[in-house]
Amino acid sequence: MTQPPGRLYLLYHELRPTRSDYSYVVETGAFEKQADLLLKLRENGALGLWPEVTFDDGHISNFEFALPALQSRAIKAWFFITVGWTGQRPGYMDWTELRALHQAGQVVGAHGWTHTLLTHCNAKELHHELADARLTLEDKLGTSVTTMSLPGGRYNRRVLTACQEAGYTQIFTSVPKAEPNPTGLTVGRLNIRGDMTLDWISKLFQPGSRLLSGLERQYQRKAAAKSLLGDRLYEKLWAVLNRQEPDTDAGEATAREDTPHHQ
Ligand SMILES: [Zn+2]
Repeated sequence: MTQPPGRLYLLYHELRPTRSDYSYVVETGAFEKQADLLLKLRENGALGLWPEVTFDDGHISNFEFALPALQSRAIKAWFFITVGWTGQRPGYMDWTELRALHQAGQVVGAHGWTHTLLTHCNAKELHHELADARLTLEDKLGTSVTTMSLPGGRYNRRVLTACQEAGYTQIFTSVPKAEPNPTGLTVGRLNIRGDMTLDWISKLFQPGSRLLSGLERQYQRKAAAKSLLGDRLYEKLWAVLNRQEPDTDAGEATAREDTPHHQ
């Protein structure tokens, strides 16, 4: 297989066997069809974008549903883990499950310690969210960890510098755009929502498709809205617009991926 120079990284969160109105949930059956599409795109496509898969947050469904679906198709994905939730927060993976994920050949990266927005952290907090998270993952899994994704996608120059100082060489954002191969320090991703159709997703990868640049412009507009409204008000608005379920999140203090600047 010849890999085309451009890549598109997809971002998933939670999978569920049944349909949900919550936009961060993708139905298991839909995910399997999307995984088949990715295989087909990789086989066919010297011209379009090369698809990659990532998961944020460390939800238990990543282990229960995504892992077998990926293993049976020989797809290697990135799983970015909120370290402080591991084995602590109901509905998220524990260390035994994470070890199994790693031993199956999947890549484990960090997604902060508490999932707080890194742009709101002081130097000491950044150290905990970045360095402690990385070292704990390395210690528990017995492997080196050099990739991370930004909670809520939020970042600025100070956060990027802190990420590099903490030992990360690839930082995954939520800016929907194609990436070169090899990637630079930051890697954009497209957040896959439960209401996106297979047909629409396949169009993203077609040679010359303008869908992605439209999404990036939309993303930048949302980023501007966020800076006008401020984080707290924006998060509240986000929860309503995305039909967030009260039990899926700790409240407006917890960053969601598709808030601006990183979703
Ligand atoms: Zn997250």
